[in-house]
Amino acid sequence: MALIECRHLTHVYLKGTPLEAVALQDVTLSIEAGEFVGLIGPTGSGKSTLIQHLNALLRPTGGEVRVAGINPADARADVKTLRQQVGLVFQYPEHQLFEETVYDDVAYGPRNLGLTEDQVRERVGESLALVGVDPGRFGRRSPFSLSGGEMRRVAIAGVLAMRPRVLVLDEPAAGLDPKGKEEILGQIRTLHEAQGLTVLLVTHSMDEAAQLVKRLVVLARGQIVMDGPVREIFRRAQDLTALGLGVPAITALMLRLRSAGMAVTPDVLTVDEARAAIGKVLQWN
Ligand code: ADP
Ligand code: MG
Repeated sequence: MALIECRHLTHVYLKGTPLEAVALQDVTLSIEAGEFVGLIGPTGSGKSTLIQHLNALLRPTGGEVRVAGINPADARADVKTLRQQVGLVFQYPEHQLFEETVYDDVAYGPRNLGLTEDQVRERVGESLALVGVDPGRFGRRSPFSLSGGEMRRVAIAGVLAMRPRVLVLDEPAAGLDPKGKEEILGQIRTLHEAQGLTVLLVTHSMDEAAQLVKRLVVLARGQIVMDGPVREIFRRAQDLTALGLGVPAITALMLRLRSAGMAVTPDVLTVDEARAAIGKVLQWN
């Protein structure tokens, strides 16, 4: 069975009131262990609503969800284990830092698991290292003395300290400067590649998706409208534009070169691929 399964998942907020909003409608999705999936869609398309079902912060109003075989709607479901297995990193996770030191912040989850202080120390060290923060240098500092990008990485370490099977991140690069963005996305890529962690990355950036994920799920108005390998999705430039999403900047450039009469392939996701495609037409060697 897949690690994450949503079957005909529907979520209606404030059902039966004048403010009723259908946020998800008949969403069927499965994600296998080891995948790196992007979830993309315009604002209000249901991305945040969907991921909050994965650790039972929200319950379906229709259909069902199973994560690691656990169905939170089941009265006997072990929701605590479910939450430990799904590491959910909210938007602006640094707003949830609150302890006096970086160490204590990352230690918060493991301490709640009832681990010994030795085990807690091991988890703190390992998770800070995973996000590229030196525990010796930063452990005793206040999280509020760090840069925006560092704070965010500490917040992610706090989630990793639970040793989740799947990491779900809601717009992890939002609001960071270009360097901070690149660092955080690089760390996430490493977590997937080196640790084999299953990752579900919510983004509204086509460029981010092109650089990182292998499979892309596109949500629009609460429904999945596309789901497939990222390269195949970006071949549907017109459909994506109609949804208000567009294509990665580098793909858009190739499409413009084509409409200007240069016979390059638009099937390009990175600068290196673009260079190769243009070189082919111009017969560089
Ligand atoms: P996204 O993350 O893609 O921007 P959301 O999941 O936040 O989308 O929202 C999907 C829809 O549900 C939107 O129409 C939004 O207004 C509505 N919605 C989200 N949260 C709530 C809430 N707590 N109460 C009522 N409606 C909500
Ligand atoms: Mg959202």
